[in-house]
Amino acid sequence: MKEFELINRYFTGRGVTRRDVDVGIGDDCALVNVPDNCQLAITTDTLVEGVHFFADIPPRALGHRALAVNLSDLAAMGAEPTWVSLGLTLPKIDPEWLEEFTEGMHEIAEYFNVQIIGGDTTQGPLTITICAKGTVPKGKALTRSGANVGDWIYVTGNLGDAALAIESRKNNWPLSESDAASALKKFHYPSPRVAAGQALRGIASSAIDISDGLLADLSHILRRSDVTAQIHADKVPMSDALRHSIPQDQALKLALAYGDDYELLYTVSQDNKLIMESKLHQYGVEPICIGQIQPGNDDIELLYDNQPWLLPESGFEHFS
Ligand SMILES: [Mg+2]
Repeated sequence: MKEFELINRYFTGRGVTRRDVDVGIGDDCALVNVPDNCQLAITTDTLVEGVHFFADIPPRALGHRALAVNLSDLAAMGAEPTWVSLGLTLPKIDPEWLEEFTEGMHEIAEYFNVQIIGGDTTQGPLTITICAKGTVPKGKALTRSGANVGDWIYVTGNLGDAALAIESRKNNWPLSESDAASALKKFHYPSPRVAAGQALRGIASSAIDISDGLLADLSHILRRSDVTAQIHADKVPMSDALRHSIPQDQALKLALAYGDDYELLYTVSQDNKLIMESKLHQYGVEPICIGQIQPGNDDIELLYDNQPWLLPESGFEHFS
């Protein structure tokens, strides 16, 4: 199959048709219209087989996940996702694989009203690069640099399930079938917090999405905001699957230090706390307060039951 046949068969005329796209797939460039008084938010993420996903990942999950991780970055800035372009490197043309892969991608694109406006295909080791674009009212984007001393630190949902999926497979942990399935679903089909991100505009003082692990991503906010933080490890939300599958200190380590969760981590002032909680409730999100911003630039202070607590050192290494 030639490249243009491939594009025609799997991409042209598929997905949503946004009215702000004048020219989509099929010309040298796409042409889109950014609304007045909005800024364009742009992010790129690459997924490489064997580095970011196992070779036997279902292609539908891969299509979903590749787009989801990019939409998560837009969510973290409070942007509304609009358009994406796709760089696809394939070892060979496998119509069945492509059908499933593009289906997974189109499903999430349609759900979030995002249009695939272009891309490129080449032959080589399986690699997916997506550039996602979104719009945000001028000056209203959430950034990593606005956290203030006294702000509360929140997350939008359970952490550590994707980690459980990966580590249980690597280490042959004996998970029950339903726990294994629910963890794998979180890894394969992450739900980017797009609505929550937009709801936090003008309310949160800083935000980031959790891709590299709660502590690592929080440290990005702390560095950019020139502050530090106190985190209550016992407040970090974890699924039942994670809680009863492995010892508690290992579960906490996965939740705090692993990543691939794609929940939002953000800070909010005491004054905005109530409005934030009620706004997120409107979107079905239960925000969980896990700590507070502190002055200084020491390391993050970890507590458990209000006592100093250290992350267990033994255990796993990140999937790479
Ligand atoms: Mg990010």
